[in-house]
Amino acid sequence: MPSVDYMCGIIGYTGEKDCVDVLINGLSTLEYRGYDSAGIAVFDGYGKIEIVKEKGKVSKIRDKIEKMPKIATSCGIAHTRWATHGEPSDRNAHPVESGDTVVVHNGIIENYQVLAKELKNSGYEFSTDTDTEVFAAVIDKFYQATGNALTSITKAVKMIRGSFALGVMFKREEDTIYAVRRDSPLIIGFGEKENFIASDITAILEHTRRYCILREGCVARITAKKAEFFDENLNFSRHDIMVADWNVDEAKRGGYSHFMIKEINEEPRALRNTLNPRVNLNRPDFSSDGFDVQRIRSRGKIYIVGCGTAYHAALCASHEIRKFARIRADAEIASEFRYSDPILGADDTVILVSQSGETADTIAALRLAKE
Ligand code: GLU
Repeated sequence: MPSVDYMCGIIGYTGEKDCVDVLINGLSTLEYRGYDSAGIAVFDGYGKIEIVKEKGKVSKIRDKIEKMPKIATSCGIAHTRWATHGEPSDRNAHPVESGDTVVVHNGIIENYQVLAKELKNSGYEFSTDTDTEVFAAVIDKFYQATGNALTSITKAVKMIRGSFALGVMFKREEDTIYAVRRDSPLIIGFGEKENFIASDITAILEHTRRYCILREGCVARITAKKAEFFDENLNFSRHDIMVADWNVDEAKRGGYSHFMIKEINEEPRALRNTLNPRVNLNRPDFSSDGFDVQRIRSRGKIYIVGCGTAYHAALCASHEIRKFARIRADAEIASEFRYSDPILGADDTVILVSQSGETADTIAALRLAKE
């Protein structure tokens, strides 16, 4: 199985600032996550949603919008895509529209083919090759039947297999953004008379430091005035506000011309920061991580699981552990590991390596190991 590390970027804004500006600047901040296309959807103030999307860099969208008549808009969603289903193209870029429903999506809908077939039978036509459009159509079908956004989203979520962070707008619900997620990251940001959704805090840090992580399976409804949260049964759900103490520059390039050079230069500091708290009287000490090294040593086996470069790190680590600690240790590619029905005992240890913390197969391997 191929390993998938999708990291698109989502941002949504509702408030009094120039929405297009907030969205495009937010997308630029999220560019470090990787992307092949970008797009935005905004309410045009006349009850319609305008979508501009294109293959390529965020700057292309910015140029395109600058040449268009200016829209006074106070609500919209935007996306940088990392294509998984359907080639990178203008047509397949997000936001994706189905009926009254417009979405941006980060993740993969695993059962999209089955759902697409059912939807086609009930008259839905598809204009992209994405799995995302199927999710949009499932929501829209419920929306046409019930006229209720929250009900439609929660019903659709129950039919979806796969991972998603989803920003949704409905043509009939001006200046409101809905969000829901499973396995893909999404935060809600709280400002003064403005609220946000975003894949990560860096996209909104210039506006606010107050945020919460949207709970798995919960739906958020945000307007400029308020943010509300509902669980899968549509009961109100409490989400505590956190305050970010990050520095925007930490997530940007920090003066280096490329992220790779920046990361190479950060290596000594990253290693020191990782090792220092785990050395006690010149000896390794993992007690604060909750590791019982003696138990690992005396009993099971160690699996080190990752994808891509993280797998290479796992290979190095397995060699070193075998050589120096004389413990049985093997590196595994996360996608192979999760589908190979691994023989895991309660005494075995699984170490997962991921640079982003979002690698889908690695997260799935973690879940499997815990099971
Ligand atoms: N699976 C979706 C697509 O291919 C979303 C990919 C992403 O996370 O950017 O369009």
